[in-house]
Amino acid sequence: MQHPTRDEIQQSLTKCGLKATHQRIVVLEAVAELHGSHPTAEDVFQRLRPANPTISLGTVYKTLDTFTETGLLRRVVSEGGSKRYDANTMTHSHIYCSKTKEIVDFEDDELEQLLLKFFSERRLENFEIKGFSVQLTGCKVEPDKKISITRVSK
Ligand SMILES: [Zn+2]
Repeated sequence: MQHPTRDEIQQSLTKCGLKATHQRIVVLEAVAELHGSHPTAEDVFQRLRPANPTISLGTVYKTLDTFTETGLLRRVVSEGGSKRYDANTMTHSHIYCSKTKEIVDFEDDELEQLLLKFFSERRLENFEIKGFSVQLTGCKVEPDKKISITRVSK
């Protein structure tokens, strides 16, 4: 995936009604650079610190919360309870490895359709569904190899 340019980052901030301050720009930039890994606030902090030594971890936490509230980022809670951030705000699911703590995106229209069908046939009382995400939890069989999904057709 290609990283967004500074202009694109500025645009997404203003689109969400946020002032494009230097701080917000560098935090969002770091999240975008770490994208595939679903970084924690500490990961984001470590990433931007060399070029931005005056930004504190507290500021990074606060900025990430603001981004989550405005819908710029999605929060992913992993098994250990650590908060991770996701720049992919489209409906998608995750595969979580409890051994390596990796979180891998899992996008599958068929799964989405299945879930939509499932909930349209079972009425949830007093609850409005705004989105869903399936999280598969397990362990990589070979920790050095990448997680991949292969469709086996019958
Ligand atoms: Zn994700």
